[in-house]
Amino acid sequence: MNSNRDDFSKETKRILQERVGNRCSNPECRCLTSGPNFEPQKATRIGVAAHITAAAEGGPRFNSVLSSEERKAISNGIWLCQNCAKLIDSDEKNYTINLLLEWKQISEENCRRELEGKPPIEYPQKEGWICYWCRSFVEHLQPVCGVCHAEVAYTATRKERTEAWNTGLFVGGGGSLLFFVLLPQLLNSKFEWALPIGFGLGIYALIISAIVAVTCGFISVEHKEKQYRGRPPRFFRNTNI
Ligand SMILES: [Zn+2]
Ligand SMILES: [Zn+2]
Repeated sequence: MNSNRDDFSKETKRILQERVGNRCSNPECRCLTSGPNFEPQKATRIGVAAHITAAAEGGPRFNSVLSSEERKAISNGIWLCQNCAKLIDSDEKNYTINLLLEWKQISEENCRRELEGKPPIEYPQKEGWICYWCRSFVEHLQPVCGVCHAEVAYTATRKERTEAWNTGLFVGGGGSLLFFVLLPQLLNSKFEWALPIGFGLGIYALIISAIVAVTCGFISVEHKEKQYRGRPPRFFRNTNI
């Protein structure tokens, strides 16, 4: 054994183990780390007090800034099963210091909650919503509720967008029509002018009207979407959206 290793004391290991109720601290494992052995005098132990940053130079997540005392302090330990201990040391890029600290924190918190008779906190703590209809958890950006199949609308629904688009077209197109057809007639009758329909722009009046109509369509849809952006999604069930 390397004498430069900053191993945990027996006491530190025991406390690490007890602070997580003798379970592996990987929130997706949480297996028990000891049980009875065939020999009545013995217990089978598969728990490991793993180092968050390695006990010796060259080890996983080694932090040269830490002192020897800090490296063997309880704050640098995490209680794991043998599998998970092997896992975190085989892939230090995936199992980062921050992730391990998060595991440790959640495991201790869940152990505390279990002692107090409370339900454990969910892990990973995903961003999500509660379905309006069935009250189940729906992960953020998931398009349908996994339980009741309600559709989740994060912005305007397709129906609302179509309606907004039609309204924009109608307002823009209608407005242009009034401008190019009715306005010259109105001015002519009022001032006895002789303005032609479309102010003499001919086919260009039609093109301009079309552009205005489409632009109003886009603006209208954007306006509709903006109403729902940054808000909790809406849940629709059995409706044509
Ligand atoms: Zn484990
Ligand atoms: Zn639902």
